[in-house]
Amino acid sequence: MQEILDAARSLFDDARSLRRELHQHPELGFREERTARRVVQELEALGLEVAAGVGKTGVVATLEGAQPGPLVLLRFDMDALPIQEETGASYASQVPGVMHACGHDGHVAIGLSAAKLLSARQAELAGSVRFVFQPAEEGLGGAQAMLADGALGPPKPDQVLAVHLWNEKPLGWLGISPGPVMAAGDIFHIQVTGKGGHGALPHLARDPVVAAAAIVTALQSVVTRNLSPLAAAVISVTSLHGGEAFNVIPSSVEMKGTIRTFEAEARRTVLERFNRIVSDVASAHACTATIELTPLTPAMVNDAGVAQRMQSLARRLFPDFDLETNYRSMVSEDMAFFLEQAPGCFIFVGSANPERGLDASHHHPKFDFDEQALIYGLALLVGATLDALHPSR
Ligand SMILES: [Zn+2]
Ligand SMILES: [Zn+2]
Repeated sequence: MQEILDAARSLFDDARSLRRELHQHPELGFREERTARRVVQELEALGLEVAAGVGKTGVVATLEGAQPGPLVLLRFDMDALPIQEETGASYASQVPGVMHACGHDGHVAIGLSAAKLLSARQAELAGSVRFVFQPAEEGLGGAQAMLADGALGPPKPDQVLAVHLWNEKPLGWLGISPGPVMAAGDIFHIQVTGKGGHGALPHLARDPVVAAAAIVTALQSVVTRNLSPLAAAVISVTSLHGGEAFNVIPSSVEMKGTIRTFEAEARRTVLERFNRIVSDVASAHACTATIELTPLTPAMVNDAGVAQRMQSLARRLFPDFDLETNYRSMVSEDMAFFLEQAPGCFIFVGSANPERGLDASHHHPKFDFDEQALIYGLALLVGATLDALHPSR
């Protein structure tokens, strides 16, 4: 164990400078061209077989071990966000309005460091490793694009693993849990239509503003009155637009938002009640509602066996760490599409350091993480891969 940790530590300077370089050149989803070029360059230098342009801007590389055996897939996301960086860091984004505010720059650095460490141990591997560098994780469909281009095989991986640097928790914390760990996400778009009119003559109109307000309030009962208090779900109306003038009742109102659930049963209940409440409340106000529901990602479900092996590895690697074994987040992540098709585990690696001011939350303009976390994520993925591909297993 100590050996893996030492090897991960020995790559820290390289991983950090690579992360900082990527941080200065962030690219939005499906536009990760410079990033993909850097990834290809690093992987080819290791003598790996590399395929670029998988799922538009994704990159896949394979490391064949000296002996046959299982296939482990390691996935890393590469995209940045449309945010103007405000960290003031020396390595801050050089691209106006674009920023690595989720830590995916760190994930790429971990991925390339893992490729280096595992390539150096090629002779000891019984099996192979597929490195997947994925574009467009932030709600743009990168995982589906890579799966459509065959990132999951054949041959199909026996295990898929990924880490996320996690600023919601401090350095020295790890979240490794079996079962659902991140929520299924659905996006909704509602148009409430009534009849516009004079603001002073509401009895001649059918006011969609009042109907929309009633819908927002009524939706609050879906989670509290229809699901078990022990089940988790969220409905958030995040956008509400209608009308321009103070004296005109508009003819329609647009609403947008998101629904998050873990269990399929809870999702069915919430969607059913959601549709019913929106339509019926609109109709009670003599308006009509058209509802568009778009699934974003399924729930992310870790395999119980793989999660248990990861927990045991984490305890051996980091005996002093705070290991949480039933951690869940209502955020959604498209690694869920990989985990729907192959057993695996998504690991949260605490990366905040409040003493150094590195504790802004993900997607915040001041987001930055403690780079020590790169070592931890790297050691966990390399350790798990070596465990799975050890000839004596
Ligand atoms: Zn994100
Ligand atoms: Zn992310």
